[in-house]
Amino acid sequence: MSELGEIFLEKEFNQRLKWLIKLRWFAVIGVFLLITAINYAIGIKLSLPQLYSGSIALLLLNLSFFLYNNLLEKRKDEKNRVITANRLVNRFANLQISLDLLALSYLIHFSGGIENPFIFYFIFHMVIASILLSNKAAYLQATLAVGLLGGIVISEYSGLLPHHHINNFIDSRLCLSGFYILGIFSVFISTLYITVYMATSIVNRLREQEKELVATNKKLSEQDRLKSQYVLTVSHDIQSSLSTIQICLSVVLGFLSDSLSVKAKEMISRAEKRCQYLLSFVKDLLNLSKIRMTRKLERKSVSLSEIVKKVVEQTREFAEQKGLTLSVENPDRDTAVFADANLLEQLILNLMENAVKYTPWGGKIGITLKDKQNSYEIVVWDTGIGISQEDLNGIFDDFYRAKNAEQMEKDGTGLGLSIVRQIVDIHNGDVFVESEIGKGSKFIFTIPK
Ligand code: ADP
Repeated sequence: MSELGEIFLEKEFNQRLKWLIKLRWFAVIGVFLLITAINYAIGIKLSLPQLYSGSIALLLLNLSFFLYNNLLEKRKDEKNRVITANRLVNRFANLQISLDLLALSYLIHFSGGIENPFIFYFIFHMVIASILLSNKAAYLQATLAVGLLGGIVISEYSGLLPHHHINNFIDSRLCLSGFYILGIFSVFISTLYITVYMATSIVNRLREQEKELVATNKKLSEQDRLKSQYVLTVSHDIQSSLSTIQICLSVVLGFLSDSLSVKAKEMISRAEKRCQYLLSFVKDLLNLSKIRMTRKLERKSVSLSEIVKKVVEQTREFAEQKGLTLSVENPDRDTAVFADANLLEQLILNLMENAVKYTPWGGKIGITLKDKQNSYEIVVWDTGIGISQEDLNGIFDDFYRAKNAEQMEKDGTGLGLSIVRQIVDIHNGDVFVESEIGKGSKFIFTIPK
């Protein structure tokens, strides 16, 4: 299996281990309450000192499991993750379940042995073992449970260990009947093995499906990579031809227009505008495919506040042409992040250009850089046309354009926000939008420090 797949399954496994520890906290509380209720409320006398000390021991044991699990997780970040998962964590899971069986046997012994109906609680451990461990290990745990209960029965029956009879619960003559004991024990053994058989069959199927999912995921990413490669090559070729066409058209319009009729000038001017639009479309496609293909960052220490300043200067003229008021809140102190400066510039520029584009004449736009605890937050806001709740779900998808945006600006690629999301993603940041139709929008993104 690929490393990605193993890490995915390992994560699942760690989650389940945590779940087991959490489950045990509830189990200990449950045991404690049950013992107290049976003894005091129902009136069946139990060997309280031994049972309470057993519960406390289980509590302490779980505390050490909890601490050790945290330690393993920390160590996992330092060392080879897959090796940690396969060896240490597996052994740890096995140990936990074996000690659980031991603890349950101890509690059973001091509360009636085979006459205690809670012996069937071993089933839960068998289900847990089947989920967490290999099939072989799950059957071995079932054998351990059978061995432990068998040991208790034989020792108590032969007088090696005292039998703690539960008064007022079951006829004591019945407890001495070998036939009765054998009957219960046989049902117990078969129940455990059948449980393990059924649970492992289901878990095996699920594990297969999990593996298939990981493999399909890998195949899909590979296909996506090929698609991006294809788009990259095609867009690159189109871009160079388009650039040449655009240069030729501008030269005709600039230097040779005297010899042209008004109609011809108008046609060439329209062609040049479409060419410009196509060029920006191809440029966006190229950028997006490059980021998706490589997912590589040229990281260095860069000042976010410097990037914001630079982008604001690039957008100022465009905003003034539309009569927009531009506000900037940019702290003049150290705002260093380890990031790809070009990509961050592109990201902020896309958001600022959208703010200008989608805000009608005379409106307000702004950018704010905030220093949060572990990250920097940048908010690009405007008092423009806004985005409807329905469109908010789609705007980060490739080529998505809302109706009100199309009505306001005919030309648009619908790729700007896809690029924004990709850049934020590869920097491990987050991006959110708050918007109300007719009132304006706020694009918020974070970059970890
Ligand atoms: P484009 O601007 O080229 O259409 P984008 O990917 O940048 O593509 O944006 C996608 C869509 O998100 C836009 O078409 C528009 O509907 C919506 N949008 C983005 N920014 C804003 C904004 N500041 N105000 C209103 N709508 C916006």
